[in-house]
Amino acid sequence: MHCDEMGRPAILVLGENSLATAERIRSALGEADIYGLETRVARADIPFSDFGDTLRDLYEAGRTIVAICAAGIVIRALARLLDNKRAEPPVLVVAEDGSAVVPLLGGLAGVNDLARQIAAAFNVAPAITTTGELRFGVNLLHPPAGYTLLNPEAGKTFISDLLAGEKVRLVGDAPWLAGTKLPFDPGGRLTITVTTENREPEADELLYLAPARGARRGRLAVVGLGPGDPILMAPAVRQELQRADDILGYETYVRMAGPFRPDQVRHMTDNREEMQRARHAFALAATGRSVAMVSSGDPGIFAMAAAVLEALDESDDPAWHEVELVILPGISAAMAAAARIGAPLGHDFCILSLSDNLKPWATIEERLDHAARADFAMAFYNPISRARPWQLGQALDIVRRHRAPQTPVVLGRDVGRPGEKVSATSLGELTPEQVDMRTVVIIGSSTTRRFNRKDGGEWVYTPRWYGEGRPKS
Ligand code: SAH
Repeated sequence: MHCDEMGRPAILVLGENSLATAERIRSALGEADIYGLETRVARADIPFSDFGDTLRDLYEAGRTIVAICAAGIVIRALARLLDNKRAEPPVLVVAEDGSAVVPLLGGLAGVNDLARQIAAAFNVAPAITTTGELRFGVNLLHPPAGYTLLNPEAGKTFISDLLAGEKVRLVGDAPWLAGTKLPFDPGGRLTITVTTENREPEADELLYLAPARGARRGRLAVVGLGPGDPILMAPAVRQELQRADDILGYETYVRMAGPFRPDQVRHMTDNREEMQRARHAFALAATGRSVAMVSSGDPGIFAMAAAVLEALDESDDPAWHEVELVILPGISAAMAAAARIGAPLGHDFCILSLSDNLKPWATIEERLDHAARADFAMAFYNPISRARPWQLGQALDIVRRHRAPQTPVVLGRDVGRPGEKVSATSLGELTPEQVDMRTVVIIGSSTTRRFNRKDGGEWVYTPRWYGEGRPKS
């Protein structure tokens, strides 16, 4: 799916009478899809049958939502999804006659600006309740297009400090703050900085990156999202996603990285077109844009970083070599799974992909044989798929030549994602049916151990010592 559609607001209507209001909102916002309840609305762009399910799907896809209905209906429908403030797309409700425009969710994604835009079309005042914004007349978390707030996580404390009476010093040029009621004072303890230099923010500072004048040097960041859970994503990656003009990647991972602002463009592609995606990223960045390429886990482990470097290595386009290229690491699947169950990779180990898409199966067999013989603990990525059903069984046969049936094995499925399951078994008991492509398989070495933990689960670890190396005491 191409995703410029993703940035388009979805307007939900429950009856014919709301259509005129929906159309007026659409013209106020530029473009939008109108979703209509199929039994009541004949002329919607997209019919739906269940309001709650539709709303939740749109919300989880990061779409901007404008619902023309009572606020309570929307609150009840979304209640169970509201646990992560950072991950909210803008959600607004509008009264059928346009007399009330209520921003509900998505303060960090610019919901108040959208409310103002819609309210202006109906000549009413939007129901803005954000204290800082009311007091100072500006939402510091949502600078105008072209500017990026590099440390939005500092915003909450910064604004509370302002509300408590602190003064703020301005460094650099911030034309959009000129007409506001911010308490500027050259001696202020707080600082707002607008700069073209990307650096670490200081304490008590909001740091905005300004568009560079003239030809901007493009940037391509290949970032690792970690296994899935947003708290396992590095802050550097989050910051990079904030500043990106374009986000590229396999659809699942682009969704995992969101939500994004309406001005950020998502380019979602099929998983297999990696070189094409890498070239697309350079082509975009070479025009001066800031591009983030997302991978799950670590981008350098069976993922996009190597494809991006390969594309650059093969290119003689000077504009591509001008692009500022950075690679930001993430927690890889094996690390995430290992941590959940103990420390099965506590001594020497290796990571092997069992996919023979990009290397001959004979090479995989040979490496497995050597690694098993060398007594490395091993993590298998891409262990099995519908197109590669027999390879894992064969791989296990090779490992079993060198390792005992009681060797501990860890299966980590969907680690850090909904439905996560991390369990221990043994090499003798392991069958390929227990494994799928969303699983990372960790095979212990000859020293790896398992023991029961109090909660009914198990710990698995590989001691730090080996052979004669066991500490005396
Ligand atoms: N760059 C990724 C790996 C991509 S290869 C990383 O560093 O984690 C894809 C394989 O990684 C999958 O077949 C699976 O074996 C493993 N994998 C990725 N994410 C996973 C997760 N959340 N839980 C379990 N295994 C995962």
